Amino acid sequence: MKYIFANWKMNLGIRESIALSRAVMRILRGEEKTPIVSIFPSFTVLNDVRKIMARSRVKLGAQNCAIEKKGSFTGEVSIGMLEDVGCDYVLVGHSERRTLFAEDNELVAKRLKSAMESRLTPILCVGEPASERESGNAEGYVSEQLYSALKDLKIPKQKDLFIAYEPVWAIGSGQAALVADMVFMHGLIRSLAKTITDHQDSKIHVIYGGSVDAKNAYGFLREAQVDGVLVGGASLKIREFEGIVQSASEVMLAQEL
Ligand code: PEP
Repeated sequence: MKYIFANWKMNLGIRESIALSRAVMRILRGEEKTPIVSIFPSFTVLNDVRKIMARSRVKLGAQNCAIEKKGSFTGEVSIGMLEDVGCDYVLVGHSERRTLFAEDNELVAKRLKSAMESRLTPILCVGEPASERESGNAEGYVSEQLYSALKDLKIPKQKDLFIAYEPVWAIGSGQAALVADMVFMHGLIRSLAKTITDHQDSKIHVIYGGSVDAKNAYGFLREAQVDGVLVGGASLKIREFEGIVQSASEVMLAQEL
């Protein structure tokens, strides 16, 4: 199986979200073998998108969640509320949260723990900034992010652990990682996650994010180390997104996944 996660970020209002959700449903209808697709829209349109995706295989995700369950936390959205509206997934520690909203490793670990204890499946995002890659410390930086998020995490046996490798310099820049570098990092992430958590191999999924588009998606998705892609900008353009979904379908057909 391959996973295609669409992070719409803070881009679409109600009408645009409904139109794009309908278009996503149309492209999936034509595919013989489809990846698992999940849409991560803004909080304000989760309910509208859910209604369109109802009774399809398309999943719903949130871009963030509160750590606390309930109470005086103005502006936060709790995990219970996300469950209520029909979310399956939640992003945790996206690089924009880490850099623009000062989420450090400690906070990300708390968020991940709260989400892991719920019915949602969290997707932990990790990735090095350009300075760390240039100084040869990409592995060390990502290992530290992983260790801090996973070291005290209890993962129920039946639950999936998703980790998105998203180098910060590749996000929204048009400069995706080289396939060889990405495969290397995925191997490292998978083996570290396994060592730290001792979770079942088949339940650990490592996906890539950072300037994925219709042209480069096949090259990433055909790699065995890549369980899927997290797509930002290209998920807002239906032809690009269609190309990415088609690439995943082709890989799944060719590799009998
Ligand atoms: C993202 O924000 O998770 C992302 C991968 O963005 P983009 O595809 O635009 O690089």
